[in-house]
Amino acid sequence: MSAKLIPPTLEDVRRAREIIRRTLSLPTPLVHSPGLSERWDAHVSLKLECMTPTSAFKVRGGVYFASQLSADELERGLVTSSTGNHGQSIAFGAASIGAEATIFMPTDANADKIAAIERLGGKVELIGERFDESRRKAEEYAVERGARYVEPVEEPKLIAGVGTAALEVLEDQQPQTDLVLLPLGGGTGSSGWVTVRDGLGHSAEIWAAQSAQSPAAHDAWRSGTIEDRPNRSIAEGLATGTPFPFAIEILQHRLNDFILVDDSQILEATRLLWDMQHVMAEPSGAVAVAAAEQERDRLIGKRVVIVISGANATREQLVDWLAD
Ligand SMILES: *Cc1c(COP(=O)(O)O)cnc(C)c1O
Repeated sequence: MSAKLIPPTLEDVRRAREIIRRTLSLPTPLVHSPGLSERWDAHVSLKLECMTPTSAFKVRGGVYFASQLSADELERGLVTSSTGNHGQSIAFGAASIGAEATIFMPTDANADKIAAIERLGGKVELIGERFDESRRKAEEYAVERGARYVEPVEEPKLIAGVGTAALEVLEDQQPQTDLVLLPLGGGTGSSGWVTVRDGLGHSAEIWAAQSAQSPAAHDAWRSGTIEDRPNRSIAEGLATGTPFPFAIEILQHRLNDFILVDDSQILEATRLLWDMQHVMAEPSGAVAVAAAEQERDRLIGKRVVIVISGANATREQLVDWLAD
């Protein structure tokens, strides 16, 4: 499947920015953090991708993707599978052009994410214990109905859409950035970042971070082979057991490093983020903070941007996670 797909270019990302600007209030803030800067002896800024209408970066992709649908696709509606944030992104995008969206989610999906999708007019089907099973069911359902299945990752327009965050930082907000750290699950966000970095001829390093409890993309990137891996992370936005070949291909020789952190470090990072900057993140949104903390010796003296990719945690989860 990935052979047919063409990776997006910088021009595609620029085009996406012109379009999604009409719907989303952009750019999202880039906030300097004195606390984290002091802690790591670096100049640290946070790209607050949690400050969008769906509280996660993915909505950039959903809005752009939806804007490019044909009348026929629009008519037949969209189907996708998600642990929550991609589903919100597609539901938001579909609503913005008056299309229907059906989102397949694992049975233990985050209640706030389900509620948000339904509020946007999306139809939720809770099927499958883990994301990978929901994904298979969604694909079957789309074929049965003749609806447009939206691949969560293997979709160049989603990558072009989410890449707009990189354009905001590297072109406008802080062109003198040395290092960007961001969470990686399926790899759309990171693919967007390397596309923009290389398209601009920018010298910033880009490091991805993932949970050691769901290391599928990390292991595929390191080994160059696509294999299923255990998928047990509490960072649900990153929790996939199957790597996505299209993203791995884009990232293979362009990502500068890929860091694994433990779920326990991720929860510590959510607390650190709160204590140092009073920014609230869901675990997936704090993974790059955990990676920075682990690799702090390599940050010294650099201008670092850390992407906070989302904040969709329920209150019950926060009470549980933020308590020491
Ligand atoms: C989806 C998601 C990620 C991972 O993004 P990919 O593009 O799949 O690598 C990270 N953080 C949050 C909050 C997410 O929802």
